[in-house]
Amino acid sequence: MLKPFLKAFNSTDKNKYALTDIRFRATDGKILEVDNGFSKLDSKEVAAWRKRFNARLCSNKLLDRSGVWRYREFLPWARPFDTVVTMPEGNTPIFNMPRSAAYCGMKALLCKHQGLNPTGSFKDNGMTAAVTQAQKLGAKMVACASTGNTSASMAAYAARAGIKSVVFIPDGQIAYGKLSQSLDYGAITIQINGDFDKAMSIVQEVCERGNIYLLNSINPFRIEGQKTIMVEMLHQLDWAAPDWVIVPGGNLGNSGSFGKAFDEMIQLGFIKKLPRIAVVQASGANPLYKSFIDKNTVLTPVQAHTRATAIKIGNPVSFDKALFAVKLTNGIVEQVSETEIALAKSRIGVDGVGCEPASATTVAGCKKLIERGTIKPENTVVCILTGNLLKDPDYTVEFHQDYLFAEADRSVTLTGTGKINTGGFANKPVKLEADADVILEYLLKNRS
Ligand SMILES: *Cc1c(COP(=O)(O)O)cnc(C)c1O
Repeated sequence: MLKPFLKAFNSTDKNKYALTDIRFRATDGKILEVDNGFSKLDSKEVAAWRKRFNARLCSNKLLDRSGVWRYREFLPWARPFDTVVTMPEGNTPIFNMPRSAAYCGMKALLCKHQGLNPTGSFKDNGMTAAVTQAQKLGAKMVACASTGNTSASMAAYAARAGIKSVVFIPDGQIAYGKLSQSLDYGAITIQINGDFDKAMSIVQEVCERGNIYLLNSINPFRIEGQKTIMVEMLHQLDWAAPDWVIVPGGNLGNSGSFGKAFDEMIQLGFIKKLPRIAVVQASGANPLYKSFIDKNTVLTPVQAHTRATAIKIGNPVSFDKALFAVKLTNGIVEQVSETEIALAKSRIGVDGVGCEPASATTVAGCKKLIERGTIKPENTVVCILTGNLLKDPDYTVEFHQDYLFAEADRSVTLTGTGKINTGGFANKPVKLEADADVILEYLLKNRS
């Protein structure tokens, strides 16, 4: 039987901390990770695991139906799995994206849409694991700082588990789709005057002093759940690793979790070839990109600016984990502008898929990396779309009205600076008389 424990990530602190030890940093201040104690499987065991994963696709048990817990062999710390809190999350499709591919200059492009989770973002993959742990620990209250999706997900899973939740959000900087969720799911919602990085520092102090369980991605059990996004992706691809996986980088928990997934799968002998990870940041919130370019392994925080609010983070908690993921997979870090994000998002839209702005950094980054020659047009690429189109409808409507600003202020009417050139991709609504002749004439002119 494996005996999982917590340990410091990338640290000289070699202590083993118990899973029940409520702490988020080692004695030297480094963040923690779960050591699942995996050792190499023989080929028969690998085949047995894969067979089991396939069999669970036909099961009606909630635990098997979850795209996280279907792969519970990768989550031994949660044994015996009888108290798992699941919606059930995951099971997100991989779409073939012909128009986005053409936009990038690729033969084909795949997008795995984590925005089709129960609360509309990949945060559910992590939250099912971390709220399960919160319940095991007997937590009475859970909290997080959030740019919106973490709070929506936490509020939902905490409600399912019957645990009170508190969210800290930056005032006026979160998309309404997300705010509406945490309100509706019953979370105490505290708007603070300050940005995400400020909210993050406050929530850590409040949790520590108030004996409240913290559910940001500094929580190592979130990372455990998010790992399975890569396991599910490989399962969907019949265990053939793509050449590249492209992921947006904000607080960098997701990038870090993908690195851990691949690290463990290699340790287990589960796959032979690793995909290369490309982390893409908004150029206005790019601390990982900067350090990557400067070959610097120390984080220098930045003041974050981007309309892609889910990645508007200047002081990412999982910086070390993301750097590890990039190094492990011979990966890369790229940055994209506000215009590049907006245009790529519109191409993901015309594939009939759509996503929120942060997710579009992936397709924008793919196009850039093709142009640089880093990614080859014939490569297999999976972009991870992290959030649902409906999370941030304002952004999308502003784009299509040809009225999207890089810096926007909607306090009275929408004003802003740095209007984004939609490059002919805006699909403006048309105002016509309620008259069939007029409408038909318009449609005849716009058939193709
Ligand atoms: C949270 C989030 C991100 C950023 O993920 P990190 O793990 O913080 O890097 C990107 N896109 C969406 C939609 C998100 O909700």
